[in-house]
Amino acid sequence: MKIYNTMSRQKEEFVPLQDGKVSMYVCGPTVYNLIHIGNARPMIVFDTFRRYLEYKGYDVNYVSNFTDVDDKIIQKANEEGVDASVISQRYIEECKKDMAAMNVMPATTHPLATQEIQGMIDMIQTLIDKGYAYPTADGTVYYRTRKFADYGKLSHKNLDDLEAGHRSDSHQLKVSGEDTKEDPLDFVLWKPKKEGEPYWESPWCDGRPGWHIECSVMSKKYLADEIDIHAGGEDLIFPHHENEIAQSEAANGVPFAKYWMHNGFLNINNQKMSKSLGNFFTVRDIAEKYDLQVLRFFMLSAHYRSPLNFSADLMEAAKNGLDRIVTAAGNLKHLEDASTVTAMTDEEKATFEASESYVKKFEAAMDDDANTADAVSAVFELVKFINTNATSENSKVYLDLLYDRLHTLCDVLGIILTQKEENLDADIEALIRERQDARKAKNFARADEIRDQLLQMGIVLEDTREGVKWKRA
Ligand code: AMP
Ligand code: ZN
Repeated sequence: MKIYNTMSRQKEEFVPLQDGKVSMYVCGPTVYNLIHIGNARPMIVFDTFRRYLEYKGYDVNYVSNFTDVDDKIIQKANEEGVDASVISQRYIEECKKDMAAMNVMPATTHPLATQEIQGMIDMIQTLIDKGYAYPTADGTVYYRTRKFADYGKLSHKNLDDLEAGHRSDSHQLKVSGEDTKEDPLDFVLWKPKKEGEPYWESPWCDGRPGWHIECSVMSKKYLADEIDIHAGGEDLIFPHHENEIAQSEAANGVPFAKYWMHNGFLNINNQKMSKSLGNFFTVRDIAEKYDLQVLRFFMLSAHYRSPLNFSADLMEAAKNGLDRIVTAAGNLKHLEDASTVTAMTDEEKATFEASESYVKKFEAAMDDDANTADAVSAVFELVKFINTNATSENSKVYLDLLYDRLHTLCDVLGIILTQKEENLDADIEALIRERQDARKAKNFARADEIRDQLLQMGIVLEDTREGVKWKRA
């Protein structure tokens, strides 16, 4: 399998650090609002890549953070007159709902920046001890960018060009009080608290971490000093990922990530969709009109590195394409129910074998830098093949094998074929949560009522040490 590495600007053969295992870190959203569909793009494309790695048999440790301390969160908290944690908790919950509706698998770990402050203080101290960072009189700690010889290796930027850029901004720098730095290229690792802001104690001042140090620390703690894949949107290449590399490699003394993957922008009228430009749709906006499976399918219709222009026409095309696949799957199930033949014929065996070519096509596309656009084409070809090679005269076994083949490929794409059953599962889980809440509130009558309701639906509950499990009776 080949993946395009932003570092080398080439497609490279993927060889994980450890046989059979993949460690992957994807920069997550800053949680001060509902996520927009631009934020959804990395979630969907890297979730699909993860699913493919798992399909190939890798054991994937997938970490994606929530940035839950940030100027924008604090600003929103002040506007609402609540604690910053109220805002971040609210939007983490909302983000998780959107992810579930887009069938994005939960990460192995979703760390929160505010829960990892001690690790950040430790890494900053290591950087100071090694001469890569310095505190200034007001307790701000800066990274000494020029000390890191490889700075710019990911974004392919040259320090002198960067400095020239900074010089032309120098008026602005003075205004923002950043003139205590040794060098305009230095960036913040820790900054002093301001009135009304959340803060933590540190050896330098009461304050909070800079954004870049969060990911270096969470990646180290939940994965390792050296990881296989680090990913995010292409806007993160510079400065965020460049700074992460400078921090992690200086502190840990080993290369940070072997492969760097970046998704292209989701655009609207050929302009990047972003909160600051105000040209965005939230995932919730889209959910009013479409099942979010359609949004997922729309995202996968393009290669993840290409810019993708959002439009009503493309969403309609995605909806129609998805319908074609789901209908073919539904037909197979109907035919299977209607079929009275049990044993598979030799002819069926041969036809089924012929359908393997679409699986090979799918795999070849995904092996080529996760080319989901071509993988989706292979699925369409399989659907066409199924539509012409399945009737109620066929055996149940044959129809079931075809269904499984389609299901397996769609599962890699995160496309759900049996919508009804999935919705039912979500309903059941919602009832179980409601029952747990009722029990917590000592409303045992309601809790028993829900248990009975579930029993009537054929669902049996079992209270275990890891929580409530359920199964169909
Ligand atoms: P943010 O909350 O802005 O830090 O963004 C979270 C993730 O969404 C990052 O990986 C960004 O690169 C990505 N992202 C933000 N806007 C877009 C966009 N319009 N298209 C693609 N990815 C985006
Ligand atoms: Zn990050």
